[in-house]
Amino acid sequence: MDHPAEQPAISLRDVHLSLGNGAARVHILKGIDLDIARGHSVGIIGPSGSGKSTLLMVMAGLERADSGTVRVADTELTGLSEDELARFRGQHVGIVFQSFHLIPNMTALENVAVPLELAGESRAFERARDELAAVGLRDRATHYPAQLSGGEQQRVAMARALVTEPEILIADEPTGNLDETTGANIIDLMFAAQQRRGTTLVLVTHDRSLADRCTTSVRIHSGLIDADHVARPAHAAAGR
Ligand code: ADP
Ligand code: MG
Repeated sequence: MDHPAEQPAISLRDVHLSLGNGAARVHILKGIDLDIARGHSVGIIGPSGSGKSTLLMVMAGLERADSGTVRVADTELTGLSEDELARFRGQHVGIVFQSFHLIPNMTALENVAVPLELAGESRAFERARDELAAVGLRDRATHYPAQLSGGEQQRVAMARALVTEPEILIADEPTGNLDETTGANIIDLMFAAQQRRGTTLVLVTHDRSLADRCTTSVRIHSGLIDADHVARPAHAAAGR
């Protein structure tokens, strides 16, 4: 591989995607071009229905583009099979959703261990325990999601997303279901983890001030990136 460190972590070219069938088919992404450098954070903002979540799904290898090229963590996703996409996700991407998406009949510890067990890691529970401790939940390991507050559930989800040390962390309105203070704590944790590990972060948010904490912010409108999106100078990468 030639100089992979100089290639962007994420590179999208003329990405189109339609979803739904028949009359319900919607052309959602209409020619997205986007490069995200390694270790940077990008805040994606835009009106509801503009295609933000769909764009994240494409980057995460959860949806396949109809056309264009999608290159993430040195992997060209466009031609991969479902199995190859699943392997790609397990190795390179962590995802956090607005509604946590924890498995209800598993404890916090078991939820965090899942991606490691899928990867065949023999020390899955040991590492999951450390990751839970890193988000401040050492003493909640045996609690089930229903026994945790929203903020605690999102911490578990964050630990689950980070436990495999992914190069890319994708977060879709991670504070959307949390009160302001709890959300701010989650965001502080997320940026701290991102900077500590040099992870590339893609964050969809309604919160302009949150997008401003990212290295760059990008506005999406009707499936296209607004031409006047602002690229911020490097000092913003400090997370303030
Ligand atoms: P955002 O996250 O910016 O609110 P989405 O990416 O979720 O927007 O959705 C963009 C548009 O695509 C919306 O109009 C939504 O209704 C539509 N859409 C999303 N997923 C599907 C799907 N599976 N089938 C049909 N339409 C969809
Ligand atoms: Mg969305």
